Amino acid sequence: MLVIMRDHASRPEIDHVVELLQEAGAQAHLSGGEVKTIIGVIGDREVVYALELEGLPGVEEVIRVLKPYKLVGRDFQADDTVVRVGSASVGGGDIAVIAGPCSIESQEQMSVVARAARDAGATMLRGGAYKPRSSPYAFRGLAEEGLKMLRIAGDEVGLPVVTEVIDVRDAEIVAEYADILQVGARNMQNFRMLDDLGSMNKPVLLKRGLSATIEELLSAAEYILKGGNRDVILCERGIRTFETYTRNTLDLAAVAALKQLTHLPVIVDPSHATGRRDLVAPMCRAGLAAGADGLMVEVHPDPERAKCDGPQSLTPEAFEAVMKDIAPMVSLMGTRMGWSA
Ligand code: PEP
Ligand code: MN
Repeated sequence: MLVIMRDHASRPEIDHVVELLQEAGAQAHLSGGEVKTIIGVIGDREVVYALELEGLPGVEEVIRVLKPYKLVGRDFQADDTVVRVGSASVGGGDIAVIAGPCSIESQEQMSVVARAARDAGATMLRGGAYKPRSSPYAFRGLAEEGLKMLRIAGDEVGLPVVTEVIDVRDAEIVAEYADILQVGARNMQNFRMLDDLGSMNKPVLLKRGLSATIEELLSAAEYILKGGNRDVILCERGIRTFETYTRNTLDLAAVAALKQLTHLPVIVDPSHATGRRDLVAPMCRAGLAAGADGLMVEVHPDPERAKCDGPQSLTPEAFEAVMKDIAPMVSLMGTRMGWSA
């Protein structure tokens, strides 16, 4: 970190900054000349980040050189993290395709969709039991009843299951049924929940917040890794922009950037990113071309009657077509489907 002092900052002002740095256990190295003094700070990331020197008398600017994350970065671990769960794996060239409805509605619905997903070549099954809905009057999910249906459907076809945790109070119960715990876009910065998931022994699928930067997404993942849980999958699901034709704007540059910055697997959710089923197939191809380690696609046996996100959900037939469509892309990228059945 660099502390740039104002022109002609006084000696007591400079000494005061140095004193605070030393008290915190950091080293201060002064440079500059008659007019300008620059203080180079060396110390532990945790110590340096806790310092808030902006606003001190004589301080003009504080430049942070260290990134706010460490464990998720390629500097810390160069090789790709591979997350393994049951018959599926993701990362390091293994591609995950997670398919299923937005919300779990019935055992019949889940069992039909699970069979279709498995038969088409999906590697994992999804479905929401606790739904974060913008309106409190919308369908909010079947809670534990839904978790049971998801588990049964996954077991019927031998696919691991992914479902969302929307509150720390539900984490334990969701973990009883699910193989991967999803943190939704609206909860990406629910730091207490990230802490809790960090101390749990279950992989986490962390979705990018609606207006979160790449650095904020990585910092959120850092919470989970800092707690000891190394199995985190990141998901680009579109961000909010001025565009209204699509539900969100799929930020594929973020996928390519994340692949450079982090060793964690990165997947793309074209369903929530576009909100339109006709755009799901092309964005699946584009996501893989950008280097994604997988896809999450909403599939419903009868999208017109879906309780949630019907317009972006694929029928089982359309999903099968998408799987055929992406197969050449998977091998073109030098990757393979991540199942080992
Ligand atoms: C979902 O995956 O069902 C979901 C609610 O997604 P997001 O958190 O990205 O909106
Ligand atoms: Mn949805």
